[in-house]
Amino acid sequence: MLSQLDAAQLRRQRTTVEGFSAAGTRGVRVAGGRELIDFSSNDYLGLARHPALCAAMSECSARLGAGSGASHLVSGHGREHALLEEELAVFTGRERALLFSCGYLANLAVMTVLAGRGERVLLDRLCHASLIDGVRLSGAAFRRYAHADAHAAAALAAKDPAHTCLIATDGVFSMDGDLAPLPQLARTARAHGAWLVVDDAHGLGVLGATGRGALETFGLDAEDVPVLVGTLGKAFGSFGAFVAGSAALIELLIQKARSYIYTTALPQPVAAATRAALKVAQSEGWRRERLSELTARFRRTAAAAGVPLSPSTTPIQPVVLGSAAAALAAQRSLETAGLWVVAIRPPTVPPGAARLRVTLSAAHTDSEVDELVRQLARVCASAAT
Ligand SMILES: *Cc1c(COP(=O)(O)O)cnc(C)c1O
Repeated sequence: MLSQLDAAQLRRQRTTVEGFSAAGTRGVRVAGGRELIDFSSNDYLGLARHPALCAAMSECSARLGAGSGASHLVSGHGREHALLEEELAVFTGRERALLFSCGYLANLAVMTVLAGRGERVLLDRLCHASLIDGVRLSGAAFRRYAHADAHAAAALAAKDPAHTCLIATDGVFSMDGDLAPLPQLARTARAHGAWLVVDDAHGLGVLGATGRGALETFGLDAEDVPVLVGTLGKAFGSFGAFVAGSAALIELLIQKARSYIYTTALPQPVAAATRAALKVAQSEGWRRERLSELTARFRRTAAAAGVPLSPSTTPIQPVVLGSAAAALAAQRSLETAGLWVVAIRPPTVPPGAARLRVTLSAAHTDSEVDELVRQLARVCASAAT
């Protein structure tokens, strides 16, 4: 098993982060004492080490301790969880929100509760692994439609409308950075009386005039997208996830979702940090503007330098290189130049589509992005020869 992974250049290796350079920057110190600029994290707004989040976390842990001690339905559900759920419901414009320990578990919950044996689920070919695992666990059959192809989804739904109970997609695709055709998918779902589940892990906090994500970009509401999944460990800089929807949907999840019921509630200090993040994300709108400026700068300069770009307008900017070996070599070469851009290889992306997944953050400087583009142009030129 392991030797096969080695031979295919598919063995994953972890790099230990030892610490960070100055506060508010993207510099990290990794094992061996090297300093790298991080272009791989999902901390889009630069909130993970924001003083307001850290203060909220310490203040809460001093008051309430480090752990929740039990699951939500036993004795682990605390005031910070309850307040965060109310604030997430308001933020997303839904009746209720339900907090989960992480996005993986939130997606397992949604899929297993809303789909089951004898039913059929439609998934985007490139949707997140947790949505696929959720359907597998649900016992429902599933079909994957061509990536971001709303016509293909509609055709599949029309083929077996009686059994198609749910359509699920990422809002922003995690490895490609492009957006799902949500308005068209919403129409198809509604026409067939199917649930539309949108996992907007990479859109919330980042996209839309007020950071409400891919749905805000398209002007869609709770009628169009009845089930919204969001994560809190990306743009919001902390940890956890939520499902937002109608009061009835949330009540059903509380009663039925095994990945909600049979796990310890996430620590209240984490919820407190997330509450602080929601405030900062809304009051410091400049972070979103800065992020879109940097994204535009990256795309403009990289295109001019001959770096092969993907059609993404979000802070996820993949540079597809093809083979796992080429992507790994490029990662190592960038690392020697002080840049941390992790190679993403199969099975996370399709075979032959290994890539450097560049992610930008509001905390990057112009000159860091310019240096990244210079170095990418160098490694892409040598990968092509
Ligand atoms: C990261 C991610 C998840 C998982 O969220 P975690 O909180 O990290 O478990 C789910 N869906 C998508 C699209 C993601 O990118």
